[in-house]
Amino acid sequence: MQFRDLNRQYQALKEEIDEAVSRTLSSGCFIMGEEVERLETLLATYVGAKHCITCGNGTDALALALEVWGIGAGDAVFVPDFTFFATAEVVARSGATPIWVDVDATTYNLSPQSLERAIQICLAQGRAIPKAVIAVDLFGLPAPYGVVQRICSQYNLLLLEDGAQGFGGAIGKQRTLSFGDIATTSFFPAKPLGCYGDGGALFTNNDTWAAQLRSLRQHGKGDTKYHNRYLGVNSRLDALQAAVLQVKFKALVAYELQAINHIATIYRQLLSPAFSIPTVPEGYYSSWAQYTILLPEGVERGKWQDSLRQKGIPTMVYYPVPMHLQEALAPWNLSDSYSVATATSLCRRVLSLPMHPYLTEEEVHQIARELNSLL
Ligand SMILES: *Cc1c(COP(=O)(O)O)cnc(C)c1O
Repeated sequence: MQFRDLNRQYQALKEEIDEAVSRTLSSGCFIMGEEVERLETLLATYVGAKHCITCGNGTDALALALEVWGIGAGDAVFVPDFTFFATAEVVARSGATPIWVDVDATTYNLSPQSLERAIQICLAQGRAIPKAVIAVDLFGLPAPYGVVQRICSQYNLLLLEDGAQGFGGAIGKQRTLSFGDIATTSFFPAKPLGCYGDGGALFTNNDTWAAQLRSLRQHGKGDTKYHNRYLGVNSRLDALQAAVLQVKFKALVAYELQAINHIATIYRQLLSPAFSIPTVPEGYYSSWAQYTILLPEGVERGKWQDSLRQKGIPTMVYYPVPMHLQEALAPWNLSDSYSVATATSLCRRVLSLPMHPYLTEEEVHQIARELNSLL
């Protein structure tokens, strides 16, 4: 059994993927071009954003968004303490001050109460000026955007949606990657919409930012290739990845999202109540980048992982270290006034189980049985 079985997906889509690859190889166009433009139109329409700008990966997408907003030294950016490192890394690299925000114990997403408290503390201390909030659609579940957007407008903050894990999710009829002033995603192979290498994208309704992003991803190019308006980066999507992504997008929408939500339902039915299972609030739809449970207090997680591995069940710990304890982020360690107790405790207790649309019901039963028997 694999944690996320990309080979099963390839076998299911082989004919179409092989066709897309050979079509691209014959076209002679390998970076950007028609395949990339087709993908951008497809994704913008699905998400419900005016612009989709693809780029080299999800980390670059976040960094480009901060750059377009001119965020740097002297600015404060609010970041959930429980996320993948890249969310925080881009803020620190921009020169801005990342400020850690605690998360909700049941959704693992940014806690609006904690966000508002962090903004007020930051304003009172006056060392950095609050500029933006990064909300993460962690494990595929949309962040609580209604409340977060209200807080952002109250304090005049830009909202960056880190939807690297969130493609395919929704709140009511509104899809993820349409909630932030700019939203970003990643096409890293294991994400809900993954390619066969690195890839990423930004989404926005703002024409000015979109034009600037299109320029920045290609060395800040102006009207012609050798006239450069900005100091940009080289962060473009391959035509091969764009061609593969069109096939994978079709499968995601046609049946993968439904299949993975079915798996989540079975997990919920079978796992013992001794485990705290992921909560999906009313009206929210998750694309289940991960299925992450909380083990009971006091369990030796490493030993459990070993026992499960011996039964052929791979598990992962997403994530073992909160941002405020990351070595590279030590200069932005907390003053006592910010509390991130929930994030810290989640890092000790989380365990992510095999999760992908091609998992069989028998496999889910086996995983649940072995886990329950460890109690
Ligand atoms: C994967 C991920 C990223 C980075 O995406 P890459 O394409 O790997 O650069 C950023 N934020 C979150 C929450 C992620 O899970």
